[in-house]
Amino acid sequence: MELSQIKSLDSQYFLGVFGERFPVCFVRGEASTLYDQDGKAYTDLFAGIAVNALGYNHAAVTDALMAQAQTGILHTSNLYYVQPQAELAALLCQHTFASRVFFSNSGAEANEAAMKLARKYFYAQGSGRYKILSAHHSFHGRTLATVAATGHDYYQEPYRPLLPSGVSQIPYNDIEALRSAVDDQTAAVLLEPVQGEGGVTPADPAYLAAVRALCDEQGILLIFDEVQTGVCRTGSLYCYEQYGVVPDIMTSAKGLGCGFPIGAVLANEKVASAIAIGDHGSTFGGNTLACNVSLSAMRYLIDNDFAAVAREKGAHLMSRLRSLSSDKIVEVRGMGLLLGIQLTDDCVAKQVVLKMLERGFVVGTAAGNVLRIAPPLIVTYAEMDAFVAALQDVLGAPAQA
Ligand SMILES: *Cc1c(COP(=O)(O)O)cnc(C)c1O
Repeated sequence: MELSQIKSLDSQYFLGVFGERFPVCFVRGEASTLYDQDGKAYTDLFAGIAVNALGYNHAAVTDALMAQAQTGILHTSNLYYVQPQAELAALLCQHTFASRVFFSNSGAEANEAAMKLARKYFYAQGSGRYKILSAHHSFHGRTLATVAATGHDYYQEPYRPLLPSGVSQIPYNDIEALRSAVDDQTAAVLLEPVQGEGGVTPADPAYLAAVRALCDEQGILLIFDEVQTGVCRTGSLYCYEQYGVVPDIMTSAKGLGCGFPIGAVLANEKVASAIAIGDHGSTFGGNTLACNVSLSAMRYLIDNDFAAVAREKGAHLMSRLRSLSSDKIVEVRGMGLLLGIQLTDDCVAKQVVLKMLERGFVVGTAAGNVLRIAPPLIVTYAEMDAFVAALQDVLGAPAQA
């Protein structure tokens, strides 16, 4: 089918939430390269929004998917034991702070579960604490509860009054604002260690440490949304490790299935022990196919220390980007292989994405006129350097000697 036909079906029949998309339809992928319908190759530095951590057609993903499909079983439900689900839960607990895991189908659902766990934890104690504080410029998903937690008017405005009640926002990286917002009904603080959609803004280390201390002092739970920062992306299996700040509850998704939809909520023993039979559930969450793919991909990422890979490649890419010579760049920031380039207002990030697509490179954007870079973790140094050269071309004069 021609791109124009796909476009016309999409614009006529698909709910108009995405509007006009970038003018390409990828039909095949191999490693970090995507191919469109005309066979044009693109080096991917966005990985389907930080999802395809192992790129395309990686044996650790493709073989696990094929092998599971060939058993004839994709799903059996949580009425029965599911081997890869049990193994994946164990793997995640062995490599994180958590003592228990629940699987969902998406990041938003994982955050919904996290909020439920926090409320149940206090309910089980007979406490009336129910409020959840999240940050301005955060992103936690598109369900009603996660929209209530997402600190952007753009996402919230059409859906007021927001559900559930008791979810509100405070400025990010501002401990005094948090201190004055908490009260004796505050149940949890929900934060991204690096705000992804909001502009690739890392938390200040002192801020996260102070948040942890405040939560401990007040008996409040700390939830990290690591949907975007997790799975080696920022240079450790989960980003909290690098901050040395351990949450009570953490969510994961995006890279967790390396392209297959799966999410997870992870909890420490204190929180997990408050959860009883019937408190939560899912038909599809933790299904055999999703867990088998994720288990294989996660084992591969852990066994081959992709946290270190992301750290090293990220340091290289960050230094190359910081040496770009352009008056269009306000700042380059991020951690590991989750990087943002904030552009000046006259240089619209979306236009840069289009120009880079023409040159055969896929990049994304984030709020605040930021170019977002989140390549597959298998990206090569040559691919990163070619990307930086093309970006130099698009953003302005070549570097001065
Ligand atoms: C993408 C994202 C989500 C939402 O995940 P979905 O799978 O789209 O529901 C939640 N939190 C963060 C930090 C994200 O980046």
